[in-house]
Amino acid sequence: MKVAKFGGTSVASAEQIRKVAAIVAEDKERKLIVVSAPGKRSSDDTKVTDLLIKLGETYLTKGEAEEELQAVVSRYDSIATELGLDGEITATIEADLRERLTFDRNRPGSFMDLIKASGEDNNAKLIAAFLQKEGINAVYVNPQDAGLLVSDEPGNAQVLSEAYDNLKRLRDREEVIVFPGFFGYSKEGTLVTFPRGGSDITGSILAAGTKADLYENFTDVDSVFAANPNVVKNPVKIKRMTYREMRELSYAGFSVFHDEALIPAFRNDIPVCVKNTNNPSSTGTMIISEREYFLNPVIGIAADEGFSTIYVRKYLMNREVGFGRKLLQILEDEGLSYEHIPSGIDDTSVILRQEQLTAEIEERIVQRIREELAVDDVYIERDFAMVMIVGEGMHNTVGVSARATQALARANVNIEMINQGSSEVSLVLGIHSEDADRAVQELYQEFFGSADETVQ
Ligand code: ASP
Repeated sequence: MKVAKFGGTSVASAEQIRKVAAIVAEDKERKLIVVSAPGKRSSDDTKVTDLLIKLGETYLTKGEAEEELQAVVSRYDSIATELGLDGEITATIEADLRERLTFDRNRPGSFMDLIKASGEDNNAKLIAAFLQKEGINAVYVNPQDAGLLVSDEPGNAQVLSEAYDNLKRLRDREEVIVFPGFFGYSKEGTLVTFPRGGSDITGSILAAGTKADLYENFTDVDSVFAANPNVVKNPVKIKRMTYREMRELSYAGFSVFHDEALIPAFRNDIPVCVKNTNNPSSTGTMIISEREYFLNPVIGIAADEGFSTIYVRKYLMNREVGFGRKLLQILEDEGLSYEHIPSGIDDTSVILRQEQLTAEIEERIVQRIREELAVDDVYIERDFAMVMIVGEGMHNTVGVSARATQALARANVNIEMINQGSSEVSLVLGIHSEDADRAVQELYQEFFGSADETVQ
């Protein structure tokens, strides 16, 4: 059996939901359907999840949000009407939203999760009703009834191991199950959402729990591309890639797939296929444990912006036992997570996402590092981009770094930092943000310039 997840744009309108129904009807193996909330119908549209966030926040501050509530209800109403469903489903959705708004506002995190999750929950009910109307034996299943247990961290749920055993039972159901993505329940019965984009995580957990033969992730692109199509013109399509490659690329800003979502599928060795709802006959991209990599050592190139570096210099740093631990302790005390730590003998840089840093935090950490670690120099620089060259084949290939650095020299891009990931699946180059697009274009030219339409 297959688990098929449909993302926001795949379920954004009646027309899209009809395509979903056709995809489900076409393959009897598609037994477990995971759906997102309605996403954008065009680039200037608003996702239902964003409408819901506005609704929840307005209600929390003003105790009233009728206009925001109507904006959500009318999205579902237009979908339901166009699908020829009776008005009852819209009335049920409106009643459900009003009921959610009565939840304890003194628990704002859980209140917001309950409101946000209604996007997928109500969409799953609506889609199940439509599939039934189309003659498919479909049923909506609630994550609580299915035992999708998660930790109680609002907006950041982690699946609990018991959930997998509970979910196994879904395999025995006769019907096609329509399951809302994006949330589970704590052991105490509180609804908790995954991070944004988390319906991918639900799909992956269900695929792992039911030991599915395939996890299909339907989105609005034909495949994963070797570079961002907004930066590189007509990049090649990736036919097959490994979990590790996808994880590294989604970390560096490939937004096709939620990177955390791969973990449950990966641990259970379930292949993942990224496909296009608007073009389901295209083969898509398969994500698997291993691939042959003789064609090109590199599978993709990505750049992510918004990094700062904390540069620290101290003579004989290499001989000082515990220096790194003390440095990282200061960051831990401020609740900061870091991404890379390239280091030399007398200096080190800690690279972190700059959205975590405020002027006060920066001042406090610089002062503590200077005083507590008695360093010779410490300063913070902003606006770096991390360019990642990813590919399992790099591991066995001589000269990838040389080709990359030469390409950047040609593009007149200064490299501030190089980090060959310990896994050798990726090579990370730290550069100034303003050079990011140019760097990706030149690297693409270097590694894929002569490639035909598909790689690997
Ligand atoms: N609807 C949620 C979001 O916009 C989750 C998802 O679509 O995966 O983040």
